[in-house]
Amino acid sequence: MKEKHKKSLMYLGYTLIVLLIFFFFGWLGHFGTFKTFITSIEQSTFDLRQTLITKYKKPNKDIVILAVDGATYEYIMDKYGYWPISRQVWADVVNGIEKTNPKYIIFDMLFVKPNLADIQADNAFVQSVKNNNNVYLSMNFDNYEDAIRQSQNLDPKFKLNVKEGNLDDNGFVTFINSRMVMGDLAKATKNIGIVNINRDQDGIIRNTTPIFKYKKNYYPNLSLRVAMDYLGVDSVSIIDNNLVLDEKHKIPLDMTHRAILNWYGANGTYKHIPLWTVVRAIKENNQKFLKDNFENKIIYVGTTATGLSDIKSVPVEPHLAGVELHTTFLNNILDNSFITKTSIEFDFIVSILLSLIVGYLVLKTQSVLKTFLFLFGVMAFYTILSVYIMLFFKLWIPIFLPYITMIATFVLVYCEKYLLKSKDYEQTYKLAVTDGLTQIFNHRYFQEQMIIHTDNYNRYGVIFSLVLIDIDFFKKFNDTYGHQSGDCVLKQVAAILKKSSRISDVVCRYGGEEMSVILTNTNKQEAIIVANKICSAVRNNKFTLANGEKVNVTISVGVASIGIDGNTPQEVIEYSDKCLYKAKESGRNRVSYDA
Ligand code: GH3
Ligand code: MG
Ligand code: MG
Repeated sequence: MKEKHKKSLMYLGYTLIVLLIFFFFGWLGHFGTFKTFITSIEQSTFDLRQTLITKYKKPNKDIVILAVDGATYEYIMDKYGYWPISRQVWADVVNGIEKTNPKYIIFDMLFVKPNLADIQADNAFVQSVKNNNNVYLSMNFDNYEDAIRQSQNLDPKFKLNVKEGNLDDNGFVTFINSRMVMGDLAKATKNIGIVNINRDQDGIIRNTTPIFKYKKNYYPNLSLRVAMDYLGVDSVSIIDNNLVLDEKHKIPLDMTHRAILNWYGANGTYKHIPLWTVVRAIKENNQKFLKDNFENKIIYVGTTATGLSDIKSVPVEPHLAGVELHTTFLNNILDNSFITKTSIEFDFIVSILLSLIVGYLVLKTQSVLKTFLFLFGVMAFYTILSVYIMLFFKLWIPIFLPYITMIATFVLVYCEKYLLKSKDYEQTYKLAVTDGLTQIFNHRYFQEQMIIHTDNYNRYGVIFSLVLIDIDFFKKFNDTYGHQSGDCVLKQVAAILKKSSRISDVVCRYGGEEMSVILTNTNKQEAIIVANKICSAVRNNKFTLANGEKVNVTISVGVASIGIDGNTPQEVIEYSDKCLYKAKESGRNRVSYDA
Protein backbone atom coordinates (compact mmCIF):
# COMPACT_ATOMS: atom_id res chain seq x y z
CA MET A 1 0.00 0.00 0.00
CA LYS A 2 2.72 2.39 1.03
CA GLU A 3 4.82 1.49 -2.00
CA LYS A 4 1.79 2.15 -4.20
CA HIS A 5 1.32 5.54 -2.59
CA LYS A 6 4.93 6.38 -3.21
CA LYS A 7 4.62 5.41 -6.86
CA SER A 8 1.55 7.56 -7.46
CA LEU A 9 3.27 10.41 -5.65
CA MET A 10 6.22 9.99 -7.97
CA TYR A 11 4.05 10.07 -11.10
CA LEU A 12 2.06 12.98 -9.78
CA GLY A 13 5.31 14.85 -9.21
CA TYR A 14 6.51 14.09 -12.70
CA THR A 15 3.26 15.18 -14.33
CA LEU A 16 3.39 18.38 -12.30
CA ILE A 17 6.94 18.97 -13.49
CA VAL A 18 5.95 18.70 -17.14
CA LEU A 19 2.97 21.02 -16.61
CA LEU A 20 5.15 23.44 -14.68
CA ILE A 21 7.65 23.54 -17.51
CA PHE A 22 4.89 24.42 -19.94
CA PHE A 23 3.43 27.11 -17.76
CA PHE A 24 6.94 28.44 -17.40
CA PHE A 25 7.61 28.52 -21.14
CA GLY A 26 4.11 29.83 -21.82
CA TRP A 27 4.82 32.63 -19.38
CA LEU A 28 8.27 33.28 -20.85
CA GLY A 29 6.64 33.41 -24.28
CA HIS A 30 5.00 36.67 -23.24
CA PHE A 31 8.38 38.32 -23.28
CA GLY A 32 9.27 39.39 -26.78
CA THR A 33 12.98 38.73 -26.46
CA PHE A 34 12.44 35.14 -25.39
CA LYS A 35 10.00 34.57 -28.22
CA THR A 36 12.50 36.05 -30.68
CA PHE A 37 15.22 33.85 -29.21
CA ILE A 38 13.16 30.67 -29.66
CA THR A 39 12.03 31.76 -33.11
CA SER A 40 15.53 32.55 -34.33
CA ILE A 41 16.92 29.21 -33.16
CA GLU A 42 13.94 27.41 -34.68
CA GLN A 43 14.67 29.22 -37.93
CA SER A 44 18.24 27.98 -37.83
CA THR A 45 16.97 24.41 -37.54
CA PHE A 46 14.73 25.16 -40.53
CA ASP A 47 17.75 26.36 -42.55
CA LEU A 48 19.68 23.25 -41.63
CA ARG A 49 16.80 21.00 -42.69
CA GLN A 50 16.36 22.94 -45.93
CA THR A 51 20.06 22.54 -46.70
CA LEU A 52 19.97 18.81 -45.94
CA ILE A 53 17.04 18.06 -48.23
CA THR A 54 17.81 20.26 -51.25
CA LYS A 55 19.59 17.50 -53.11
CA TYR A 56 16.46 15.34 -53.03
CA LYS A 57 14.35 17.97 -54.78
CA LYS A 58 14.32 18.56 -58.53
CA PRO A 59 14.11 22.13 -59.79
CA ASN A 60 12.24 22.92 -62.99
CA LYS A 61 14.74 22.76 -65.85
CA ASP A 62 12.69 25.19 -67.96
CA ILE A 63 13.44 28.04 -65.59
CA VAL A 64 16.69 29.85 -66.40
CA ILE A 65 18.31 33.04 -65.16
CA LEU A 66 19.68 35.74 -67.39
CA ALA A 67 22.23 36.96 -64.92
CA VAL A 68 23.40 40.51 -64.62
CA ASP A 69 26.59 39.36 -62.93
CA GLY A 70 29.96 40.84 -62.10
CA ALA A 71 31.45 39.93 -65.49
CA THR A 72 28.55 41.66 -67.23
CA TYR A 73 29.24 44.81 -65.26
CA GLU A 74 32.84 44.82 -66.51
CA TYR A 75 31.81 43.98 -70.08
CA ILE A 76 29.20 46.75 -70.26
CA MET A 77 31.53 49.32 -68.72
CA ASP A 78 34.15 48.32 -71.24
CA LYS A 79 31.93 48.39 -74.33
CA TYR A 80 29.41 51.14 -73.48
CA GLY A 81 31.30 53.11 -70.89
CA TYR A 82 28.43 53.70 -68.49
CA TRP A 83 26.17 52.00 -66.01
CA PRO A 84 23.28 51.29 -65.61
CA ILE A 85 22.83 49.37 -68.80
CA SER A 86 21.28 51.41 -71.60
CA ARG A 87 17.69 50.47 -72.23
CA GLN A 88 18.71 49.96 -75.83
CA VAL A 89 20.59 46.88 -74.60
CA TRP A 90 17.43 45.61 -72.95
CA ALA A 91 15.44 46.27 -76.11
CA ASP A 92 18.01 44.35 -78.17
CA VAL A 93 18.07 41.51 -75.66
CA VAL A 94 14.28 41.19 -75.63
CA ASN A 95 14.03 41.32 -79.40
CA GLY A 96 16.93 38.89 -79.81
CA ILE A 97 15.58 36.33 -77.38
CA GLU A 98 12.01 36.60 -78.64
CA LYS A 99 13.16 35.12 -81.93
CA THR A 100 13.81 31.80 -80.13
CA ASN A 101 10.22 31.57 -78.83
CA PRO A 102 10.82 31.73 -75.09
CA LYS A 103 7.87 31.13 -72.74
CA TYR A 104 8.42 34.26 -70.69
CA ILE A 105 10.99 36.98 -70.20
CA ILE A 106 10.60 38.27 -66.66
CA PHE A 107 12.47 41.33 -65.44
CA ASP A 108 13.26 41.25 -61.75
CA MET A 109 14.47 44.82 -62.15
CA LEU A 110 12.84 48.18 -61.67
CA PHE A 111 12.41 50.64 -64.52
CA VAL A 112 10.97 53.51 -62.56
CA LYS A 113 12.19 56.68 -64.21
CA PRO A 114 12.59 57.54 -67.87
CA ASN A 115 16.14 58.28 -68.97
CA LEU A 116 15.80 61.76 -70.37
CA ALA A 117 19.33 61.66 -71.77
CA ASP A 118 18.49 58.71 -73.97
CA ILE A 119 14.79 58.90 -74.85
CA GLN A 120 15.40 56.83 -77.96
CA ALA A 121 16.64 53.86 -75.96
CA ASP A 122 13.63 54.13 -73.61
CA ASN A 123 11.29 54.11 -76.57
CA ALA A 124 13.00 51.08 -78.10
CA PHE A 125 12.59 49.18 -74.84
CA VAL A 126 8.94 50.24 -74.47
CA GLN A 127 8.34 49.08 -78.01
CA SER A 128 9.93 45.66 -77.38
CA VAL A 129 7.68 45.20 -74.33
CA LYS A 130 4.63 46.33 -76.24
CA ASN A 131 5.35 43.92 -79.09
CA ASN A 132 5.74 40.88 -76.88
CA ASN A 133 2.99 40.00 -74.43
CA ASN A 134 5.21 37.44 -72.68
CA VAL A 135 7.49 40.10 -71.15
CA TYR A 136 6.96 40.80 -67.44
CA LEU A 137 8.06 43.78 -65.39
CA SER A 138 8.48 44.47 -61.69
CA MET A 139 7.35 47.11 -59.29
CA ASN A 140 7.54 47.75 -55.56
CA PHE A 141 5.21 48.91 -52.84
CA ASP A 142 6.37 50.92 -49.86
CA ASN A 143 5.11 53.27 -47.22
CA TYR A 144 6.73 56.54 -48.16
CA GLU A 145 4.59 59.57 -47.51
CA ASP A 146 3.15 61.60 -50.34
CA ALA A 147 5.64 64.34 -49.43
CA ILE A 148 8.39 62.15 -50.88
CA ARG A 149 6.59 60.63 -53.82
CA GLN A 150 3.04 61.19 -54.93
CA SER A 151 0.98 58.12 -54.23
CA GLN A 152 -0.71 57.06 -57.45
CA ASN A 153 -3.71 55.00 -58.38
CA LEU A 154 -2.76 51.96 -60.40
CA ASP A 155 -4.45 50.97 -63.63
CA PRO A 156 -7.10 48.30 -62.90
CA LYS A 157 -5.41 45.98 -65.43
CA PHE A 158 -2.65 45.31 -62.85
CA LYS A 159 -5.05 44.18 -60.12
CA LEU A 160 -5.23 40.62 -58.93
CA ASN A 161 -8.66 39.22 -59.54
CA VAL A 162 -9.81 37.53 -56.30
CA LYS A 163 -12.83 35.42 -57.09
CA GLU A 164 -13.65 34.06 -53.68
CA GLY A 165 -12.63 34.64 -50.07
CA ASN A 166 -10.91 37.47 -48.31
CA LEU A 167 -7.73 38.14 -46.42
CA ASP A 168 -8.66 39.69 -43.13
CA ASP A 169 -6.61 42.75 -42.40
CA ASN A 170 -5.15 41.20 -39.28
CA GLY A 171 -1.43 40.93 -39.88
CA PHE A 172 -1.80 41.80 -43.53
CA VAL A 173 0.44 44.60 -44.66
CA THR A 174 -1.32 47.28 -46.61
CA PHE A 175 0.98 49.61 -48.50
CA ILE A 176 0.32 53.29 -49.03
CA ASN A 177 2.76 54.13 -51.81
CA SER A 178 4.25 52.49 -54.88
CA ARG A 179 7.26 52.55 -57.15
CA MET A 180 5.48 51.92 -60.41
CA VAL A 181 7.34 51.38 -63.67
CA MET A 182 7.66 54.51 -65.81
CA GLY A 183 4.49 55.68 -67.50
CA ASP A 184 5.19 54.50 -71.07
CA LEU A 185 6.15 51.02 -69.88
CA ALA A 186 3.02 50.79 -67.73
CA LYS A 187 0.97 51.65 -70.77
CA ALA A 188 2.80 49.05 -72.88
CA THR A 189 1.92 45.97 -70.82
CA LYS A 190 -0.45 44.49 -68.27
CA ASN A 191 2.25 42.07 -67.03
CA ILE A 192 3.48 43.73 -63.90
CA GLY A 193 4.05 42.02 -60.56
CA ILE A 194 5.33 43.01 -57.14
CA VAL A 195 8.86 42.10 -56.02
CA ASN A 196 8.88 43.27 -52.40
CA ILE A 197 10.84 40.93 -50.16
CA ASN A 198 10.53 40.01 -46.49
CA ARG A 199 13.50 39.37 -44.30
CA ASP A 200 13.22 37.59 -41.00
CA GLN A 201 14.80 39.25 -37.98
CA ASP A 202 18.11 37.58 -38.73
CA GLY A 203 18.12 39.06 -42.24
CA ILE A 204 17.37 35.78 -43.97
CA ILE A 205 14.51 35.44 -46.42
CA ARG A 206 12.46 32.33 -45.74
CA ASN A 207 9.11 33.43 -47.05
CA THR A 208 7.55 35.64 -49.62
CA THR A 209 4.29 37.52 -49.98
CA PRO A 210 2.07 36.27 -52.84
CA ILE A 211 -0.57 38.98 -52.52
CA PHE A 212 -0.09 42.62 -51.67
CA LYS A 213 -2.75 45.06 -50.63
CA TYR A 214 -2.57 48.60 -51.94
CA LYS A 215 -5.35 51.16 -51.76
CA LYS A 216 -7.98 48.50 -50.97
CA ASN A 217 -7.04 46.36 -53.97
CA TYR A 218 -4.99 43.20 -54.22
CA TYR A 219 -1.90 42.94 -56.44
CA PRO A 220 0.05 39.79 -57.28
CA ASN A 221 3.64 38.94 -56.62
CA LEU A 222 5.62 38.91 -59.89
CA SER A 223 5.91 35.12 -59.92
CA LEU A 224 2.26 34.66 -58.99
CA ARG A 225 1.33 36.71 -62.05
CA VAL A 226 3.60 34.52 -64.22
CA ALA A 227 2.27 31.30 -62.66
CA MET A 228 -1.33 32.33 -63.26
CA ASP A 229 -0.63 32.92 -66.93
CA TYR A 230 1.36 29.71 -67.15
CA LEU A 231 -1.55 27.74 -65.67
CA GLY A 232 -4.18 29.68 -67.60
CA VAL A 233 -5.81 31.03 -64.46
CA ASP A 234 -7.30 34.53 -64.49
CA SER A 235 -8.47 34.73 -60.89
CA VAL A 236 -7.62 33.18 -57.56
CA SER A 237 -9.54 32.21 -54.40
CA ILE A 238 -8.57 32.46 -50.79
CA ILE A 239 -9.86 29.41 -48.97
CA ASP A 240 -8.84 28.37 -45.44
CA ASN A 241 -5.56 30.24 -45.48
CA ASN A 242 -4.72 28.91 -48.89
CA LEU A 243 -4.33 30.94 -52.02
CA VAL A 244 -5.95 28.64 -54.57
CA LEU A 245 -4.98 28.94 -58.23
CA ASP A 246 -6.64 25.79 -59.49
CA GLU A 247 -7.37 22.30 -58.21
CA LYS A 248 -3.76 21.23 -58.23
CA HIS A 249 -2.05 24.47 -57.29
CA LYS A 250 -2.44 26.25 -53.99
CA ILE A 251 -0.19 28.36 -51.85
CA PRO A 252 -0.48 27.83 -48.07
CA LEU A 253 -0.39 31.16 -46.24
CA ASP A 254 0.86 31.70 -42.70
CA MET A 255 -0.51 34.13 -40.12
CA THR A 256 1.03 37.06 -41.96
CA HIS A 257 -0.31 35.87 -45.32
CA ARG A 258 3.10 34.78 -46.48
CA ALA A 259 4.23 31.57 -48.12
CA ILE A 260 7.25 29.68 -46.75
CA LEU A 261 9.58 28.88 -49.62
CA ASN A 262 10.93 25.40 -50.21
CA TRP A 263 14.43 25.83 -51.63
CA TYR A 264 15.73 23.62 -54.38
CA GLY A 265 19.36 24.35 -53.79
CA ALA A 266 22.10 26.83 -53.35
CA ASN A 267 23.13 29.49 -55.85
CA GLY A 268 23.18 28.12 -59.37
CA THR A 269 20.30 25.71 -59.02
CA TYR A 270 18.81 27.31 -62.09
CA LYS A 271 20.98 27.73 -65.11
CA HIS A 272 22.68 31.12 -65.05
CA ILE A 273 23.36 32.67 -68.42
CA PRO A 274 25.51 35.79 -68.03
CA LEU A 275 23.99 38.80 -69.76
CA TRP A 276 27.24 39.72 -71.48
CA THR A 277 27.30 36.38 -73.36
CA VAL A 278 23.79 37.12 -74.63
CA VAL A 279 24.71 40.67 -75.67
CA ARG A 280 27.70 39.22 -77.53
CA ALA A 281 25.59 36.47 -79.17
CA ILE A 282 23.06 39.05 -80.39
CA LYS A 283 25.85 41.22 -81.74
CA GLU A 284 27.37 38.26 -83.52
CA ASN A 285 23.95 36.98 -84.53
CA ASN A 286 24.70 33.64 -82.87
CA GLN A 287 21.23 32.11 -83.24
CA LYS A 288 22.32 28.69 -82.03
CA PHE A 289 23.48 30.07 -78.70
CA LEU A 290 20.21 31.93 -78.22
CA LYS A 291 18.07 28.96 -79.24
CA ASP A 292 19.96 26.51 -77.04
CA ASN A 293 19.57 28.72 -74.02
CA PHE A 294 16.15 30.28 -74.40
CA GLU A 295 13.81 28.26 -76.59
CA ASN A 296 10.67 27.46 -74.56
CA LYS A 297 12.31 28.69 -71.38
CA ILE A 298 10.98 30.78 -68.54
CA ILE A 299 13.68 33.45 -68.31
CA TYR A 300 14.19 35.57 -65.22
CA VAL A 301 16.39 38.60 -65.74
CA GLY A 302 18.04 39.82 -62.55
CA THR A 303 21.16 40.92 -60.79
CA THR A 304 23.33 38.19 -59.35
CA ALA A 305 26.51 40.18 -58.84
CA THR A 306 26.97 40.22 -55.08
CA GLY A 307 27.87 43.88 -55.12
CA LEU A 308 24.72 44.76 -57.02
CA SER A 309 22.39 42.44 -55.24
CA ASP A 310 20.15 43.70 -52.51
CA ILE A 311 19.42 40.20 -51.22
CA LYS A 312 22.21 38.20 -49.78
CA SER A 313 20.84 35.65 -47.41
CA VAL A 314 18.50 32.73 -47.83
CA PRO A 315 18.31 29.50 -45.85
CA VAL A 316 20.40 27.30 -48.08
CA GLU A 317 23.37 29.58 -48.67
CA PRO A 318 24.64 32.83 -47.20
CA HIS A 319 25.00 34.57 -50.58
CA LEU A 320 22.32 34.13 -53.15
CA ALA A 321 20.94 36.64 -55.54
CA GLY A 322 17.43 37.95 -55.23
CA VAL A 323 16.36 36.62 -58.57
CA GLU A 324 16.58 33.05 -57.22
CA LEU A 325 13.91 34.05 -54.73
CA HIS A 326 11.49 34.59 -57.60
CA THR A 327 12.47 31.48 -59.55
CA THR A 328 12.05 29.43 -56.37
CA PHE A 329 8.66 30.97 -55.71
CA LEU A 330 7.46 30.20 -59.24
CA ASN A 331 8.90 26.70 -59.03
CA ASN A 332 7.13 26.14 -55.68
CA ILE A 333 3.81 27.23 -57.20
CA LEU A 334 4.20 24.96 -60.23
CA ASP A 335 5.33 21.99 -58.05
CA ASN A 336 2.86 22.80 -55.29
CA SER A 337 5.72 22.36 -52.86
CA PHE A 338 5.51 25.15 -50.29
CA ILE A 339 6.41 24.49 -46.69
CA THR A 340 3.68 24.65 -44.05
CA LYS A 341 4.57 25.47 -40.47
CA THR A 342 2.73 23.61 -37.73
CA SER A 343 0.54 25.65 -35.40
CA ILE A 344 1.72 26.75 -31.96
CA GLU A 345 -0.89 24.41 -30.43
CA PHE A 346 0.60 21.48 -32.32
CA ASP A 347 4.10 22.53 -31.22
CA PHE A 348 3.04 22.57 -27.58
CA ILE A 349 1.30 19.19 -27.78
CA VAL A 350 4.32 17.57 -29.43
CA SER A 351 6.61 19.10 -26.82
CA ILE A 352 4.39 17.89 -23.97
CA LEU A 353 4.21 14.36 -25.38
CA LEU A 354 7.96 14.13 -25.91
CA SER A 355 8.61 15.54 -22.44
CA LEU A 356 6.22 12.98 -20.94
CA ILE A 357 8.08 10.19 -22.72
CA VAL A 358 11.45 11.46 -21.50
CA GLY A 359 10.15 11.92 -17.93
CA TYR A 360 8.68 8.42 -17.94
CA LEU A 361 11.94 6.92 -19.17
CA VAL A 362 13.88 8.72 -16.46
CA LEU A 363 11.53 7.35 -13.79
CA LYS A 364 11.52 3.83 -15.19
CA THR A 365 15.21 3.41 -15.92
CA GLN A 366 17.69 2.69 -13.15
CA SER A 367 20.93 3.25 -15.05
CA VAL A 368 22.05 6.87 -15.43
CA LEU A 369 23.91 6.08 -18.65
CA LYS A 370 20.82 4.46 -20.11
CA THR A 371 18.62 7.47 -19.36
CA PHE A 372 21.14 9.77 -21.03
CA LEU A 373 21.22 7.48 -24.04
CA PHE A 374 17.41 7.48 -24.08
CA LEU A 375 17.29 11.26 -24.03
CA PHE A 376 19.81 11.58 -26.83
CA GLY A 377 18.06 8.75 -28.66
CA VAL A 378 14.68 10.47 -28.49
CA MET A 379 16.21 13.78 -29.54
CA ALA A 380 18.16 12.25 -32.42
CA PHE A 381 15.17 10.24 -33.61
CA TYR A 382 12.92 13.29 -33.52
CA THR A 383 15.48 15.42 -35.35
CA ILE A 384 15.92 12.89 -38.14
CA LEU A 385 12.15 12.48 -38.31
CA SER A 386 11.74 16.25 -38.67
CA VAL A 387 14.06 16.25 -41.70
CA TYR A 388 12.08 13.48 -43.39
CA ILE A 389 8.79 15.16 -42.51
CA MET A 390 10.01 18.33 -44.20
CA LEU A 391 11.13 16.38 -47.25
CA PHE A 392 8.08 14.17 -47.69
CA PHE A 393 5.24 16.16 -46.12
CA LYS A 394 6.64 19.68 -46.58
CA LEU A 395 5.92 20.30 -42.92
CA TRP A 396 8.03 22.43 -40.63
CA ILE A 397 7.64 20.82 -37.21
CA PRO A 398 9.32 22.46 -34.22
CA ILE A 399 12.66 21.20 -32.93
CA PHE A 400 13.93 23.72 -30.45
CA LEU A 401 10.88 23.97 -28.18
CA PRO A 402 10.63 20.17 -27.75
CA TYR A 403 14.38 20.09 -27.12
CA ILE A 404 14.39 22.58 -24.27
CA THR A 405 11.26 21.13 -22.68
CA MET A 406 12.68 17.60 -22.96
CA ILE A 407 15.95 18.65 -21.35
CA ALA A 408 14.15 20.62 -18.63
CA THR A 409 11.93 17.61 -17.93
CA PHE A 410 14.96 15.32 -17.89
CA VAL A 411 16.78 17.44 -15.32
CA LEU A 412 13.77 18.10 -13.08
CA VAL A 413 12.47 14.53 -13.10
CA TYR A 414 15.99 13.38 -12.27
CA CYS A 415 16.00 15.73 -9.31
CA GLU A 416 12.61 14.41 -8.25
CA LYS A 417 13.80 10.84 -8.57
CA TYR A 418 16.85 11.44 -6.38
CA LEU A 419 14.90 13.42 -3.85
CA LEU A 420 12.53 10.47 -3.46
CA LYS A 421 15.46 8.07 -3.40
CA SER A 422 17.17 9.92 -0.58
CA LYS A 423 13.86 9.81 1.32
CA ASP A 424 13.82 6.07 0.65
CA TYR A 425 17.29 5.72 2.05
CA GLU A 426 16.32 7.60 5.20
CA GLN A 427 13.37 5.29 5.68
CA THR A 428 15.41 2.15 5.14
CA TYR A 429 17.98 3.34 7.65
CA LYS A 430 15.26 4.06 10.18
CA LEU A 431 13.83 0.58 9.70
CA ALA A 432 17.26 -0.95 10.16
CA VAL A 433 17.81 0.66 13.57
CA THR A 434 14.27 0.52 14.98
CA ASP A 435 12.62 -2.24 16.94
CA GLY A 436 9.45 -3.28 15.21
CA LEU A 437 7.33 -3.90 18.29
CA THR A 438 8.20 -0.99 20.55
CA GLN A 439 9.37 1.55 17.94
CA ILE A 440 12.44 2.36 20.04
CA PHE A 441 15.98 1.68 18.81
CA ASN A 442 17.12 -1.95 18.52
CA HIS A 443 20.04 -3.80 20.03
CA ARG A 444 22.38 -3.13 17.10
CA TYR A 445 21.84 0.61 17.39
CA PHE A 446 22.34 0.38 21.14
CA GLN A 447 25.76 -1.26 20.65
CA GLU A 448 26.76 1.35 18.06
CA GLN A 449 25.72 4.18 20.37
CA MET A 450 27.63 2.67 23.30
CA ILE A 451 30.79 2.73 21.18
CA ILE A 452 30.17 6.29 19.98
CA HIS A 453 29.43 7.54 23.50
CA THR A 454 32.55 5.83 24.87
CA ASP A 455 34.61 7.37 22.06
CA ASN A 456 33.21 10.80 22.89
CA TYR A 457 34.09 10.25 26.54
CA ASN A 458 37.64 9.22 25.67
CA ARG A 459 38.20 12.07 23.22
CA TYR A 460 36.27 14.97 24.68
CA GLY A 461 35.49 13.79 28.20
CA VAL A 462 31.73 13.80 27.64
CA ILE A 463 30.38 11.44 30.25
CA PHE A 464 27.28 9.25 29.98
CA SER A 465 25.36 6.78 32.10
CA LEU A 466 23.55 3.61 31.22
CA VAL A 467 20.21 2.56 32.71
CA LEU A 468 19.28 -1.09 32.20
CA ILE A 469 15.68 -2.17 32.78
CA ASP A 470 14.10 -5.61 33.16
CA ILE A 471 10.39 -6.24 33.71
CA ASP A 472 9.67 -8.21 36.86
CA PHE A 473 8.15 -11.70 36.63
CA PHE A 474 7.40 -11.25 32.99
CA LYS A 475 7.39 -14.96 32.24
CA LYS A 476 4.59 -15.34 34.74
CA PHE A 477 2.84 -12.29 33.30
CA ASN A 478 2.88 -13.91 29.87
CA ASP A 479 1.61 -17.17 31.32
CA THR A 480 -1.23 -15.37 33.09
CA TYR A 481 -2.36 -12.83 30.51
CA GLY A 482 -0.98 -14.22 27.28
CA HIS A 483 1.82 -13.06 24.97
CA GLN A 484 -0.32 -10.45 23.28
CA SER A 485 -0.89 -8.65 26.55
CA GLY A 486 2.82 -9.03 27.24
CA ASP A 487 3.53 -7.21 23.96
CA CYS A 488 1.13 -4.44 24.99
CA VAL A 489 3.04 -3.95 28.20
CA LEU A 490 6.37 -3.87 26.35
CA LYS A 491 5.08 -1.11 24.11
CA GLN A 492 3.76 0.90 27.03
CA VAL A 493 6.98 0.54 29.01
CA ALA A 494 8.92 1.75 25.97
CA ALA A 495 6.60 4.75 25.74
CA ILE A 496 7.17 5.57 29.42
CA LEU A 497 10.95 5.36 28.87
CA LYS A 498 10.79 7.75 25.97
CA LYS A 499 8.63 10.16 27.91
CA SER A 500 10.92 10.11 30.93
CA SER A 501 14.12 10.80 28.98
CA ARG A 502 15.51 13.71 27.02
CA ILE A 503 15.71 13.92 23.24
CA SER A 504 19.47 13.45 23.38
CA ASP A 505 19.07 10.21 25.35
CA VAL A 506 19.05 6.95 23.46
CA VAL A 507 16.19 4.57 24.38
CA CYS A 508 16.69 1.00 23.10
CA ARG A 509 15.24 -2.45 23.39
CA TYR A 510 18.15 -4.44 24.70
CA GLY A 511 16.48 -7.77 24.04
CA GLY A 512 13.35 -9.67 25.17
CA GLU A 513 11.74 -7.65 27.93
CA GLU A 514 14.94 -5.79 28.73
CA MET A 515 15.41 -2.17 27.71
CA SER A 516 18.16 0.38 28.09
CA VAL A 517 18.58 4.13 28.13
CA ILE A 518 21.90 5.83 27.41
CA LEU A 519 21.82 9.15 29.23
CA THR A 520 24.08 11.58 27.41
CA ASN A 521 26.19 14.01 29.43
CA THR A 522 24.71 12.63 32.68
CA ASN A 523 26.67 11.71 35.78
CA LYS A 524 25.80 8.91 38.12
CA GLN A 525 23.81 11.02 40.62
CA GLU A 526 21.64 12.44 37.88
CA ALA A 527 21.27 9.00 36.29
CA ILE A 528 20.03 7.53 39.57
CA ILE A 529 17.39 10.25 39.75
CA VAL A 530 16.26 9.48 36.19
CA ALA A 531 16.24 5.72 36.94
CA ASN A 532 14.07 6.26 40.00
CA LYS A 533 11.74 8.47 38.01
CA ILE A 534 11.35 5.73 35.41
CA CYS A 535 10.87 3.03 38.04
CA SER A 536 8.11 4.92 39.83
CA ALA A 537 6.49 5.98 36.55
CA VAL A 538 6.11 2.30 35.62
CA ARG A 539 5.01 1.37 39.11
CA ASN A 540 2.30 4.04 39.10
CA ASN A 541 1.09 3.33 35.60
CA LYS A 542 -2.02 1.27 34.84
CA PHE A 543 -1.14 -0.94 31.89
CA THR A 544 -3.96 -1.69 29.50
CA LEU A 545 -4.04 -5.27 28.28
CA ALA A 546 -5.24 -6.69 24.98
CA ASN A 547 -8.71 -7.30 26.45
CA GLY A 548 -8.90 -3.81 27.94
CA GLU A 549 -8.15 -4.97 31.48
CA LYS A 550 -5.84 -2.69 33.50
CA VAL A 551 -2.99 -4.07 35.57
CA ASN A 552 0.15 -3.01 37.42
CA VAL A 553 3.66 -3.92 36.32
CA THR A 554 6.98 -3.27 37.97
CA ILE A 555 10.52 -3.13 36.74
CA SER A 556 13.99 -3.53 38.18
CA VAL A 557 16.69 -1.08 37.14
CA GLY A 558 20.48 -1.10 37.12
CA VAL A 559 22.58 2.03 36.71
CA ALA A 560 26.24 2.40 35.63
CA SER A 561 28.37 5.35 34.55
CA ILE A 562 31.37 5.62 32.26
CA GLY A 563 34.65 6.32 34.02
CA ILE A 564 33.31 5.26 37.41
CA ASP A 565 31.90 1.78 36.80
CA GLY A 566 33.85 0.89 33.66
CA ASN A 567 35.89 2.32 30.78
CA THR A 568 34.62 0.24 27.86
CA PRO A 569 31.09 -0.42 26.58
CA GLN A 570 31.37 -4.02 27.79
CA GLU A 571 32.45 -2.97 31.30
CA VAL A 572 29.64 -0.43 31.66
CA ILE A 573 27.01 -2.90 30.38
CA GLU A 574 28.35 -5.61 32.64
CA TYR A 575 28.26 -3.32 35.67
CA SER A 576 24.71 -2.18 35.05
CA ASP A 577 23.69 -5.78 34.46
CA LYS A 578 25.15 -6.70 37.82
CA CYS A 579 23.26 -3.83 39.45
CA LEU A 580 20.10 -5.06 37.78
CA TYR A 581 20.70 -8.51 39.20
CA LYS A 582 21.17 -6.92 42.58
CA ALA A 583 17.88 -5.07 42.26
CA LYS A 584 16.17 -8.36 41.44
CA GLU A 585 17.89 -10.06 44.36
CA SER A 586 16.87 -7.42 46.83
CA GLY A 587 13.19 -7.66 46.03
CA ARG A 588 12.64 -6.19 42.50
CA ASN A 589 10.63 -2.99 41.74
CA ARG A 590 13.67 -0.90 42.55
CA VAL A 591 16.83 0.80 41.32
CA SER A 592 20.28 -0.49 42.11
CA TYR A 593 23.52 1.37 41.27
CA ASP A 594 25.99 -0.65 43.24
CA ALA A 595 27.23 -3.95 41.95
P1 GH3 B 1 12.49 -11.60 36.46
O1 GH3 B 1 11.65 -10.83 37.34
O2 GH3 B 1 13.56 -12.39 37.14
O3 GH3 B 1 13.00 -10.83 35.33
O4 GH3 B 1 11.53 -12.72 35.90
P2 GH3 B 1 11.13 -12.90 34.36
O5 GH3 B 1 10.01 -13.84 34.28
O6 GH3 B 1 10.84 -11.56 33.77
O7 GH3 B 1 12.41 -13.55 33.89
P3 GH3 B 1 13.16 -13.23 32.54
O8 GH3 B 1 13.60 -11.84 32.58
O9 GH3 B 1 14.20 -14.26 32.34
O10 GH3 B 1 12.01 -13.43 31.54
C1 GH3 B 1 12.04 -13.20 30.16
C2 GH3 B 1 10.67 -13.45 29.64
O11 GH3 B 1 10.19 -12.31 28.92
C3 GH3 B 1 10.67 -14.58 28.72
C4 GH3 B 1 9.60 -14.27 27.73
O12 GH3 B 1 8.44 -14.96 28.04
C5 GH3 B 1 9.31 -12.81 27.96
N1 GH3 B 1 9.52 -12.10 26.75
C6 GH3 B 1 10.70 -11.80 26.16
N2 GH3 B 1 10.48 -11.11 25.00
C7 GH3 B 1 9.14 -10.96 24.87
C8 GH3 B 1 8.30 -10.38 23.89
O13 GH3 B 1 8.73 -9.83 22.89
N3 GH3 B 1 6.96 -10.41 24.09
C9 GH3 B 1 6.42 -11.01 25.20
N4 GH3 B 1 5.11 -11.00 25.36
N5 GH3 B 1 7.19 -11.58 26.10
C10 GH3 B 1 8.52 -11.59 25.97
MG1 MG C 1 14.93 -10.72 31.41
MG1 MG D 1 12.24 -10.13 33.69
